[in-house]
Amino acid sequence: MNAEIIAVGTELLIGQIANTNAQYISQRLAEVGVNVYYHSVVGDNRNRMIETIKLALLRSDLIVITGGLGPTQDDITKEVAAEIIGLPLVLHKESEERIKEFFKKINRPMVESNKKQALIPDGTIVIPNNNGMAPGSIINFNSKTIVLLPGPPKEMKPMCDYFISNDLIDSNGVIKSKYIKIFGLGEATLEKKILDLIKDQSNPTIATYCNDGEVTLRVTARARNIEEARRLLNPLISEITVRLGEFIYSINDEKLEEVVVKILKDRGKTIALAESCTGGMISARITDIPGASKVFQQGAVTYSNKSKVNSLGVEEDALIKFGAVSHEVARQMAEGIRRVSGSDLGLSVTGIAGPGGGTESKPVGLVYIGLADEKGVNSWEYKFTGNRDSVRQITVLSALDRIRRSLTDK
Ligand code: ATP
Repeated sequence: MNAEIIAVGTELLIGQIANTNAQYISQRLAEVGVNVYYHSVVGDNRNRMIETIKLALLRSDLIVITGGLGPTQDDITKEVAAEIIGLPLVLHKESEERIKEFFKKINRPMVESNKKQALIPDGTIVIPNNNGMAPGSIINFNSKTIVLLPGPPKEMKPMCDYFISNDLIDSNGVIKSKYIKIFGLGEATLEKKILDLIKDQSNPTIATYCNDGEVTLRVTARARNIEEARRLLNPLISEITVRLGEFIYSINDEKLEEVVVKILKDRGKTIALAESCTGGMISARITDIPGASKVFQQGAVTYSNKSKVNSLGVEEDALIKFGAVSHEVARQMAEGIRRVSGSDLGLSVTGIAGPGGGTESKPVGLVYIGLADEKGVNSWEYKFTGNRDSVRQITVLSALDRIRRSLTDK
């Protein structure tokens, strides 16, 4: 399948904004094995838009168009696309209700032009917009597919993910991808474990991506229908799961913190954190997840020695004898936060993120993570490399992974 992306907006042409939508959509399509052959940008001009879409229809199977779905006079993408295909625009009731609700919520009257956003080309598949007003559309036409998405990236991205992950992109069949998320294995080690599977691939295919210490495996199958795609994917995913075992934290493209919150919820456990070198980053990641309040009690940023003593009850003697970055202090911090918060689990982090502060015996990148639960307290030493930012990022992931492992006995 060959695809093309058309970004609509005069502000793109005059260089006021960069075409990041095309970049995002291209990345997502590449991930599922769709070839993107053209990017075009066209202003809010009817004739030039018609010309661009018609040309795209001659050379591409899938045309993704972003922008111009707003309520104003110059937002004409939907009208132009519908006109080219010969479809009338009809009111999509659900989207109209959504827009009305939105105005009610912000306590402002809905203007007539906003209704225009609830119009869709007749018979098309609607992509719901959970972050704005204009719905998206998937139009299947003469074995071609046109996808209309709004311009604002925060609306466009989840809608793009929706149409790709819902296997709607190929009217002649499906391309189905599953994302396996792995933490704690380097890319080379991981590849060695599944090299024969990676080499022996035509359909499904396996691709590896590395990011901030995590590895994602994308396994993609092309098939006539979704059942057939699943039949191709499932045995391969099972084999990968057996080989990589405990290092896999999700086979459904979830974030590590999402998995952690889910496991805590499932086990009925609560957690509190005492963070030093990560300065609240772990708490932020956990509280990013909707529903975290059911499991997350407290996050304390205890950066100074004094705060470790005053807020967590860390012994001054331990700080003097072992130093703030030590097994002993990590353990006392974990026990302390568990005690003061009354949580089932207490997790702590203390380390040297750099660039300064390192010594020969305690270099930059030295980190201790402590975890206290009803059975006792444990701590782990890590020696990370990289700059301040990467040390902190990898520490956050390592801490989240410790929680996951402790709750799943891995
Ligand atoms: P709205 O209802 O906000 O008008 P729309 O679907 O009509 O949505 P546009 O008016 O074309 O979209 O663009 C709205 C904003 O979205 C732009 O001002 C810009 O900030 C952003 N935007 C639009 N197209 C792109 C793009 N290709 N890449 C990055 N950002 C974009």
